Amino acid sequence: MLLIYCPYCEEERSELEFRQAGDAHIARPTTMTEMSDEDFEAFFFLRDNVKGLTFERWRHLNGCGRFFNAARDTVSDKFLTTYKAGLPRPDVSTLRPAASAPVETYEATESDAK
Ligand SMILES: [Zn+2]
Repeated sequence: MLLIYCPYCEEERSELEFRQAGDAHIARPTTMTEMSDEDFEAFFFLRDNVKGLTFERWRHLNGCGRFFNAARDTVSDKFLTTYKAGLPRPDVSTLRPAASAPVETYEATESDAK
């Protein structure tokens, strides 16, 4: 089972308590009412869907309920760090590289249950 560190609760909790909430650090337009439909569509729906390091919003839905940000590798599914909402992106050069070990999933551990 994947464990995610909540920067507010200051502990790792089961992934089942969390929900991904889209990309982090998206600049909200200040002139939303003046945007064309095409520009609004691009802002609201279109995302980069990066392969590798990405910054995402997460919510500790079944815990403290707060939103926070995470740096996650989309290939290995490893969280490199989590940090409180409102803080700038962490310096990626200080983050540890993603592990090459296979990702342990709930399904993999469930099949081993007796
Ligand atoms: Zn929490």
